[in-house]
Amino acid sequence: MDLGRVEVPVAPPYPVVVGVGLDLAGIVSGELEPGVAAILTDSNVGPLHAPKVGRALEDAGWRVAEVLEVPAGEPSKGLAAYAEVAGALARAGLTRDGTLFALGGGVVGDLGGFVAATFMRGIGFVALPTSLLAMVDSSVGGKVGVDLPEGKNLLGSFLRPRLVAADLDWLQTLPQRELSGGLAEVVKMGLLSGGEYFDDLDGLGAALSRDPNVLRALILASVRFKARVVAEDELEAGRRVILNYGHTVGHGLEAATGYALPHGEAVSAGMVAAAHLARERLGADLVALHEDLLSSAGLPLRAPAVETEKVLAAMGRDKKRLTGDARQRFVLLEDVGRPVWGVPVAEEEARRAIGAVVA
Ligand code: NAD
Repeated sequence: MDLGRVEVPVAPPYPVVVGVGLDLAGIVSGELEPGVAAILTDSNVGPLHAPKVGRALEDAGWRVAEVLEVPAGEPSKGLAAYAEVAGALARAGLTRDGTLFALGGGVVGDLGGFVAATFMRGIGFVALPTSLLAMVDSSVGGKVGVDLPEGKNLLGSFLRPRLVAADLDWLQTLPQRELSGGLAEVVKMGLLSGGEYFDDLDGLGAALSRDPNVLRALILASVRFKARVVAEDELEAGRRVILNYGHTVGHGLEAATGYALPHGEAVSAGMVAAAHLARERLGADLVALHEDLLSSAGLPLRAPAVETEKVLAAMGRDKKRLTGDARQRFVLLEDVGRPVWGVPVAEEEARRAIGAVVA
């Protein structure tokens, strides 16, 4: 299978390389001068994949000063883990010319990226995404950060990685529920993009069965789409906000369940809620289409046992809100491939849309 390569056209640009059984030593050597590395991973991914990655870096002439493992899960994307990782880098003697390799899902990528953006005011950063969500979404675009007890992603920065390399072999050990979670972001981007990428969503069933050709095609299409959106609006002053499709209600559902509902499942229900809103506001009836696509990705269409009022309250604390505006701003679809953003939605309309997915 060919190596897929997408250049994210920001300044400076960075490559995203996707393949099966990647020659990581060769890829790293082709892109970067060897130096001192630290590998950050989590307690699920580390034992499975870190030794091979460490050997590949050494083969490429790097000195691996430290392999750091945080407990798997969202709580590691917090200030305690941030302080621990940064402290460990200092104790390992990493200097400004060091590079942090983040091997893991979105949690390790966001945490590692934020450490790399701030340790000694910035060191090199390479993303080695191992979850489907991280491959299709979080490893591209440069958003890094950690959660505060007061809310998700409240502390963060933008940091361009020097390289993103995703080996589809890593997905073999990813739990099925996490695979579906990643597909939620694929469905999101296919709906936003339209065209060929939307047609590729026919392969969702095969992706769910881990067909490597289909997964590779969907990952590359997602990376290409995200790279284009990010290149137009890296700092999210405008259109990049479309990538939050389904996330307004989705984040509300996550917070209302105390993060018991996984991100991908919350976004799935959030997109169905957005489709209900679009039917009401824009006359675009894409509800059945959303439900078909998300079901074939193995995702739930509803988040039962959640209270609408709790979701609304959590949405009110979202960081995407603007001061002094009582209305929620939504990304909605006028049609496949035709997102509109900044659509003001009154509380009563939002309540009805949430009601459609929590009942
Ligand atoms: P995650 O990092 O917690 O990974 C999900 C689970 O899968 C974890 O238990 C992890 O240990 C495990 N895992 C990952 N790869 C594995 C593998 N190959 N084999 C076995 N187990 C594996 O979560 P995620 O779903 O990857 O990412 C979610 C996070 O990403 C959230 O914190 C979210 O806010 C963030 N995110 C960031 C961006 C961005 O632009 N920065 C975009 C979307 C999401």
